Amino acid sequence: MPLTANDPTRQSWLEVPKNSDFPIQNIPFGVFLTRDDIITIGTRIGNTAIDLGALHQLGYFKGIELTDDIFLQDTLNDFIADGRKTWRLVRNRISDIFLKDNPELRDNTEHKERVLFTMNEIEMQLPVDVGDYTDFYASKEHATNVGSLFRDPENALLPNWLHIPIGYHGRSSSIIPSGTPVRRPNGQTKPGENGTPGFGPSKLLDFELEMAFITTASNALGRRIPIKEADEHIFGLVLLNDWSARDIQAWEYVPLGPFLGKNFASTISPWIVTLDALHDFKVSGPKQDPEPLPYLKQGEKKNYDINLEASIKPEGGKETVVCRSNFKYMYWSMVQQLAHHTINGCNVRSGDMMGSGTISGPTPDSYGSMLELSWKGTKPVQLSDGSSRKFIEDGDTVILRGYCQNDKVRIGFGDCAGKVLPARKI
Ligand code: MN
Repeated sequence: MPLTANDPTRQSWLEVPKNSDFPIQNIPFGVFLTRDDIITIGTRIGNTAIDLGALHQLGYFKGIELTDDIFLQDTLNDFIADGRKTWRLVRNRISDIFLKDNPELRDNTEHKERVLFTMNEIEMQLPVDVGDYTDFYASKEHATNVGSLFRDPENALLPNWLHIPIGYHGRSSSIIPSGTPVRRPNGQTKPGENGTPGFGPSKLLDFELEMAFITTASNALGRRIPIKEADEHIFGLVLLNDWSARDIQAWEYVPLGPFLGKNFASTISPWIVTLDALHDFKVSGPKQDPEPLPYLKQGEKKNYDINLEASIKPEGGKETVVCRSNFKYMYWSMVQQLAHHTINGCNVRSGDMMGSGTISGPTPDSYGSMLELSWKGTKPVQLSDGSSRKFIEDGDTVILRGYCQNDKVRIGFGDCAGKVLPARKI
């Protein structure tokens, strides 16, 4: 099926500001509360939110096989479970409805009143009910930096790293949409000289610049997803800030890996940008040496050129960009991660979320966490207000952004932001 919605010459009758993340070529999917407090599935063009539930009720999806209530839900899980053919039909149809020359909705004032909202009339919710959340560790630069900081710069990568996409099972209950404040966690930390563990608010609160992909209902238990088919099972991507308390993490992580240092909050951007919308931004990933096992061989161009950045905004202050990275640096691609995740027969469901792991690039200004940017606190990061940070302080807002751009079109993700509040007293 042609991706007609991707045609860069298309223009909408809705206004799209210059450098908007959401031109008519994007058509992301999200869930929001309307001005009437009704929850609905929607999309966005420019700074206009579009109620897909209302559009469907008004008959604009005629001819596409959809249940009556598919968009009148508080999550996208069922729509995602309908599969790639349906996503494409719906995305192409939305594009047609808002095409400059199409008068059908453009000239119907009554319908427009029911369907269109300004961004400040709505409140974005989590787009999916995430059943399971897995976080990978797929950036070679990040894994090398962490290995150098905590173990041995000469043997920074552990022997398994170049052979398997390393990951762990995260926790989905604390995934929150952009804009939700993040409470600094309390926890245990490494014992000092007296041998008793420390306890209290984390002193080393960090962000992790990541992306995450959302899957469809894919494989039955016991069956794998072959790598050649893996991208059919990926609905789209969001930005992910995998907040991390480094001091809690350092004490608890042996031998089973991350736990309370990670699962107190994970912020995602609320619009899922479809893999289809990113189609024209496919690039080759880093050369893989040694060659992966056959079930992980992916052929050509399975990475995506997505510019990424992280900013810190102190309370009442101005933002400073502290990191510029790119999703294309990922050593293990999304299809490799999904093929690996299911090679043992583990089943993946609609709305599951797979984090990439921190996405660090090759240069020190492209490292995707304060741990790396401040090199474990030895090189404070300067902010534009004259202050500096080793880690994240109370009142700081961390904002992740991401976008693809070529000479014709820009496809972005909007903000993934969270403000840190002081720890609760125990
Ligand atoms: Mn992570």
